[in-house]
Amino acid sequence: MSDDVKMWGDEEFWGIGYEYDPQFFLTERQREIQQDLIDLCRTTLRVNAVESDRGFIFPRKNFEALASKGLLGLFVPEELGGMGENHVAMCMVVEAVARYGCPSTAMCLTMHYGACSAALFRHHDNDALRDIMSRLDRDVLVGTLSYSDPETGSHFWYPVSSGAEATEDGWKVTKKASWTTSGGFADWYIVQTTSPDFGGDYSDLSVWLILADEVDADVAGWDGMGMRGNQSGALLVDGVTIPKNRMVGPKGDGAVSNDETVDPFFLLNSSCAWNGIAMGMIDIAKRHTTRKRHVDVGLRVCDYPTIQDYVGEAIIGTNASRMMTFGLAKALDELTGNCDWSIHRDLEAVPRADLLNQLWQVKFQAAKNVHEVSDKMLHACGGTAYKAGLGMERLLRDAKAGWVMGPTNEVLRQFVGKHALLGFDSLDYWNTSINHRSIDNEVKKMSAEEKKALADRLLEEAGTAAE
Ligand SMILES: Cc1cc2nc3c(=O)[nH]c(=O)nc-3n(C[C@H](O)[C@H](O)[C@H](O)COP(=O)(O)OP(=O)(O)OC[C@H]3O[C@@H](n4cnc5c(N)ncnc54)[C@H](O)[C@@H]3O)c2cc1C
Repeated sequence: MSDDVKMWGDEEFWGIGYEYDPQFFLTERQREIQQDLIDLCRTTLRVNAVESDRGFIFPRKNFEALASKGLLGLFVPEELGGMGENHVAMCMVVEAVARYGCPSTAMCLTMHYGACSAALFRHHDNDALRDIMSRLDRDVLVGTLSYSDPETGSHFWYPVSSGAEATEDGWKVTKKASWTTSGGFADWYIVQTTSPDFGGDYSDLSVWLILADEVDADVAGWDGMGMRGNQSGALLVDGVTIPKNRMVGPKGDGAVSNDETVDPFFLLNSSCAWNGIAMGMIDIAKRHTTRKRHVDVGLRVCDYPTIQDYVGEAIIGTNASRMMTFGLAKALDELTGNCDWSIHRDLEAVPRADLLNQLWQVKFQAAKNVHEVSDKMLHACGGTAYKAGLGMERLLRDAKAGWVMGPTNEVLRQFVGKHALLGFDSLDYWNTSINHRSIDNEVKKMSAEEKKALADRLLEEAGTAAE
């Protein structure tokens, strides 16, 4: 296999070559997986992407193709039949699927890998999780994450329309989710609710394994502008009774599970999807602008310096984002012994959580970059790109999901700014810390009468609360 010349079947690839890819992060084995995957994208995933987009079709066929290469269990330990690969390999795979194949599949794969991470984190003594992890590729078992709550929007860590209670031999779980990628098509779901015996503290969350026949999904309701194959509709787990071993990790493990697995894996992999879409659009721009000729001036579109500037800036911006993404993946590999899940036999081991503030930046940057690159590549290719034939407008619609997916880019830049200036506690995920400065400032504006009315109301409320 040559790593100098990127091949597309028997021919040289028509887009940007390996000279602009961060190949230096990859091992020899990972480069082989990559070449094989590019070929699978060429023959299968890319064709199916068009079908998925046109008909809002879940990319099951693409998952079957990925499973045939062992990629659903990419970072599942070898003892469970997986490939035992690491975070860098995972980034390469998600990016390649988005770039050369199908962005909707890349998003479904992002959620599948997120669900796998939550399961592997606590699989050690759990037969139900071990069974699923050992059959991912053989039985093409697609997993996903169902977190977002209709009442709290993109604050997916705050599930108010959910709950769970202990039964004699298991649990009764209720979950209302406003968005779930692969919803109604996945075979297993990682779901988060408030814990059994919930006493009003929304940081007390528990994680569940729910199976396909235990959910009601609004399959027909998905009408997204892009990512049309990802089928991210509403979902209901309607007071379903499940056995004891379907609790993932101990009771109350939700916040830790978020910080150590769901957040890091989602932030990293979704960034790879956005980077992959950006590179995919630059690839198409190269192919189109080098072939389209203006007869009057005898120049191709790529001969105009403006177009060269567009492409140069798009590559530089996207590669800055890819360096952040792969750099963080490498850092996670170093912290976890190359994604060795056995370290989590110790329930206190949460090395990835230390890099959460770095990972927020990665998702912000990747989503911002693809937002800009998608516009510029449309401009570079002109009106032809506005039509479906070139494949650009589909990627542009897919790209716009990056900014709005939770944690949204508005929320992320505020997390980073607040955290940097005021420390972690200031983020106040669960709306529990009191801003005394704001209270003092508002009270300062009140007349004596207004202060007295407020004091009376507060005394009455305090009295009621104390009863
Ligand atoms: C393609 C796609 C796939 C998805 N897949 C999944 C999935 O698999 N699982 C899942 O659980 N969810 C999923 N989601 C849901 C996603 O993560 C968000 O929950 C959803 O996009 C929120 O939409 P909303 O309209 O409720 O936004 P809102 O939360 O209402 O946001 C509206 C605006 O308010 C801003 N805003 C919100 N909070 C703040 C704040 N604190 N400070 C400043 N501004 C703020 C936002 O940034 C945004 O600009 C998916 C979404 C998309 C688009």
